[in-house]
Amino acid sequence: MNNIPYKIYLNEDEMPKAWYNLRADMKNKPAPLLNPGTHQPMKAEELYPVFCEELVKQELDNDTPYFQIPDEVFNFYKMYRPSPLVRAYCLEKALGTPAKIYYKFEGNNTSGSHKLNSAIAQAYYAKKQGLKGVTTETGAGQWGTALSMACAYLGLDCKVYMVKVSYEQKPFRREVMRTYGASVTPSPSMTTEVGKRILEAHPGTTGSLGCAISEAVEAATSVEGYRYVLGSVLNQVLLHQSIIGLETEAALKKYDIKPDMIIGCAGGGSNLGGLIAPFMRDKILGKSDCRIIAVEPASCPSFTRGKYAYDFCDTGMVCPLAKMYTLGSDFIPAPNHAGGLRYHGMSSVLSQLYDDGLMEAVAVPQTEVFKAAERFARVEGILPAPESSHAIKVAIDEAEKCRETGEEKTIVFGLTGTGYFDMVAYEKFHDGKMEDYVPTDEELAASAAKLPRV
Ligand SMILES: *Cc1c(COP(=O)(O)O)cnc(C)c1O
Repeated sequence: MNNIPYKIYLNEDEMPKAWYNLRADMKNKPAPLLNPGTHQPMKAEELYPVFCEELVKQELDNDTPYFQIPDEVFNFYKMYRPSPLVRAYCLEKALGTPAKIYYKFEGNNTSGSHKLNSAIAQAYYAKKQGLKGVTTETGAGQWGTALSMACAYLGLDCKVYMVKVSYEQKPFRREVMRTYGASVTPSPSMTTEVGKRILEAHPGTTGSLGCAISEAVEAATSVEGYRYVLGSVLNQVLLHQSIIGLETEAALKKYDIKPDMIIGCAGGGSNLGGLIAPFMRDKILGKSDCRIIAVEPASCPSFTRGKYAYDFCDTGMVCPLAKMYTLGSDFIPAPNHAGGLRYHGMSSVLSQLYDDGLMEAVAVPQTEVFKAAERFARVEGILPAPESSHAIKVAIDEAEKCRETGEEKTIVFGLTGTGYFDMVAYEKFHDGKMEDYVPTDEELAASAAKLPRV
């Protein structure tokens, strides 16, 4: 055994004081958001009615490398950060691998995931602007939970549109949000014009994320003192999530550890973008040749089988167009898909890095993901979120390759959250009812054919 502790913590005075904006160091900048009507780059003034002003500035800033973390946000971070970087000694032993495996664990807060890192930042800027509250959508519920915690702390109103099927099937998430004072509306609802239209056209529909986004945007823009906030995909969210990568970098440096690969799951790309930020900077600057690997579900493979094109961010087509690896905005993963990460597109920052060959991507079938989740839980103790388990799966695969070759590689992966609210998915897996549906080329071609012509 060497002298690396089981958990590497940072002291409070070693915590990062600023977020890092990777865009400032990218040679090829991510493509700008476009106005869906005119196809011209979105100007800040066009975004102000929907998003908070300070967040719009962060969204459009490709040049400023560091943004000071406001004191109030930093104080909130101190309640659950720094998060531990854990050396997975038990997993290494179980795998019989010479690889050294570390994971950055973001599940140590009540919302159970990394999403709180951006929720508190976004709620803070809304409060600072003097707003009454914010609106958002939530699917599985992690983002809605994180945002309701942040809003409760700052005394802001929080209106969450929750996809109706999740609202009914995930009553516990819903009640956590209500405990933190959020109002949770099943979407589609009669509280918005777009909701009424959708219900008229499709009575009995169980809703979709795209529909919930449209309702949340309408709710924000039709009432004085509200703005809309989003928990992934956007540049500002990756900026806030850089706290994950900066802490990881500081913890590794404390013990002079150099990672050979960094692995993270990718839904909209926010945890991965945050985790890799300082490591990708070193790679861009030629200081490191660390491999960076995104892991996505085989049933929603935006990087590995999507097109790099402008697309709508939402199914309702109300948001700006973003250039990204996408499956098409009306792509919906098969109904039996249980592992999360079901967004059709991918962060513009990560899309550009992937297109530039600076990172790799792997798609994995969900039964393999749950097998890895269970293996991990049994030796490391933590019950991982299905989303996070995509990264576990590939970390295990890479560690097993090291067992074959005898290489002592250092693997770092992001463990984004816990899976306590995902036990229905685990149940399906245990009962052998989980299938690995992978979309056909024809299905993907059909949704890609509907991409907007820009
Ligand atoms: C939301 C979520 C993800 C995926 O979102 P990204 O923006 O891609 O990071 C991953 N893991 C957990 C636990 C989540 O809640």
